[in-house]
Amino acid sequence: MENIYRFTLEKLKKYCIEKGYKPFKAEQIYDWLYRKRVTSFMEMTNIKKEVREILKKDLTFTQLKVLKIEKDKDVHKYLFELIDKSKVEAVLMFHDYGNSLCISTQVGCNMGCTFCESGRLKKVRNLNIEEMVLQYLQIEKLEKKKITHVVLMGIGEPFDNYENVITFIHILNEGKGIGLGSRHITVSTCGIIPKIENFIEDGKQVNLAISLHAPTDELRTKIMPINKAYPLKELMKVLQKYIQKTNRRLTFEYIMLQGVNDTKKCAYELVNLVKNMNCYINLIPYNETSHIDYKKSSSDSILAFYDILKKEHIQVTIRKEFGSKVSAACGQLRANYEEGK
Ligand code: SAH
Repeated sequence: MENIYRFTLEKLKKYCIEKGYKPFKAEQIYDWLYRKRVTSFMEMTNIKKEVREILKKDLTFTQLKVLKIEKDKDVHKYLFELIDKSKVEAVLMFHDYGNSLCISTQVGCNMGCTFCESGRLKKVRNLNIEEMVLQYLQIEKLEKKKITHVVLMGIGEPFDNYENVITFIHILNEGKGIGLGSRHITVSTCGIIPKIENFIEDGKQVNLAISLHAPTDELRTKIMPINKAYPLKELMKVLQKYIQKTNRRLTFEYIMLQGVNDTKKCAYELVNLVKNMNCYINLIPYNETSHIDYKKSSSDSILAFYDILKKEHIQVTIRKEFGSKVSAACGQLRANYEEGK
């Protein structure tokens, strides 16, 4: 038995052909799944009953279990339990431009960023395709609101689960299904260079965000061990290539950690690193967690940092703070749940 939500339209067509049906049947099924959003073959009334009975033997609609929902004014946070009892979270944020869903891509994470709650649990496994598709579908159904943007910034490193993540994006994108536009999808990585190379070759038009968080190798290696394997010079080289090939603007995420990377010196170093690049910097107020010692930068230092970048003609924004009340930083809901809070 295979979960139907792991099928791209192409794969479903192939399956239908193998079963002796026309590929069009796959389009009908896709329409039921992603336009009408039914969750059983019985509801697919324009498909013959005998055929539905046969499909039912191969394909399941198994959903994720919703363990917990925390709601605040502009953010709703979901904790899911997977079949093997692993837990992952997804966060829906209500912006003025739309509703953006932050999706997890792995159970735990091996990247070891020192400030991040998710990484305190080492990677248990990759999420499979349907576990990502279902975060989207189930939340949209429960909320009765359209999700207009998807960001792959939840638990896990998307490029450490490359194949599944790309297929998931493909399913989100499918015009005969969900039909979410590429420009409404953002994948965020800590900077795994070979996978960024693959991503460039695949020519996906989705937005790319890089978790930069420090302007020099010395500092970046201290807070993000991945920088040892893929140092800044090489990272910037591949990112230049990305910009050249795609003609797209790149996003750098920069968490503001008090006294660590929020000094004026850091701001000028950052200017030097990214000047003349088609990019913008998203300054992120750090979401403090009880398990990790970093403190969030004061509003004054964030603004001073912002001003320096602005003055030096770097495009920069300060991310709106979401959900400090609802433990919204990656991995916090899961961590708190496990500790019985
Ligand atoms: N592994 C990917 C995506 C998941 S993390 C990546 O590194 O990009 C998504 C973003 O949230 C990253 O920029 C990450 O550094 C940031 N982040 C992690 N913990 C945070 C916290 N406590 N407060 C604010 N941002 C955090």
